[in-house]
Amino acid sequence: LEEKLREVDKFKAIGTLAGGIAHDFNNLLMGIQGLTSLMAVGMTPDDPHQEHVRAIEEHIRSAANLTRQLLGLARGGKYEAKPIDLNELVFDSALMFGRTRKEITIHQDLHPAPLVVEADRNQLDQVLLNIFVNAWQAMPDGGAIYLKTSVTELDESVCAAHDIEPGFCVKLSITDTGCGMDETTRQQVFDPFFTTKDKQRGTGLGLASVYGIIKNHGGLVTVYSEVGHGTTFTIYLPLSDKTVQAEPPLTEEVQQGSG
Ligand code: ADP
Repeated sequence: LEEKLREVDKFKAIGTLAGGIAHDFNNLLMGIQGLTSLMAVGMTPDDPHQEHVRAIEEHIRSAANLTRQLLGLARGGKYEAKPIDLNELVFDSALMFGRTRKEITIHQDLHPAPLVVEADRNQLDQVLLNIFVNAWQAMPDGGAIYLKTSVTELDESVCAAHDIEPGFCVKLSITDTGCGMDETTRQQVFDPFFTTKDKQRGTGLGLASVYGIIKNHGGLVTVYSEVGHGTTFTIYLPLSDKTVQAEPPLTEEVQQGSG
């Protein structure tokens, strides 16, 4: 119990930090970004500072990524939960991710019926993206990602241990055929700022925010990994009995505008 309390404290502290700083910092960054692009517009192609401006823009992108990850950590932070079909979300984000990464194949084995969860779509998109990017980086020579969704009921003892409501859950597993990780790494993957990557590629906040977001949604995320074989992340989210609302139809004005 003591260990669990320590863990909760750690995420609370990071969450407070995220809420307090990341948002304001991001606004400052957007200001810098705006001014940098203004500078770039005024430059001739042979300006010796072109390269510096590009480097600044690159750093801004990294910093914006960091603040986005920090915001994802903000536990108890604002999020808009709506009934959504997890199958659809998985399908869409896999399609989007796979489109630009031809060296990996994505296999999907999705439950035949809609799997409704009450969740913030943007945050779950972020969860999938973080896991996909890690999988992709773990497979520098290419490989495969297997996505599987189903309905399951968690053991009462598991629910009690992880402070989740007993009942039916939606289960999503994401398996890669990458380098895998050793036991020491596996135990730390959800720790904020834990990374084995260099500064350019890793912030160590991706999986910490995955953990925070899934916890926030009343769910659970686990990891299984074998060195040299690959890794599986499994996400459990409470199954909702609500139905997914259809998107409101486009107004005539919008339809005309887009045609
Ligand atoms: P980052 O990707 O910025 O390092 P993460 O929190 O996303 O931060 O991941 C933490 C660490 O967990 C990574 O540096 C890596 O060592 C390990 N890891 C995460 N996902 C995988 C994976 N699919 N395969 C192998 N190692 C992984």
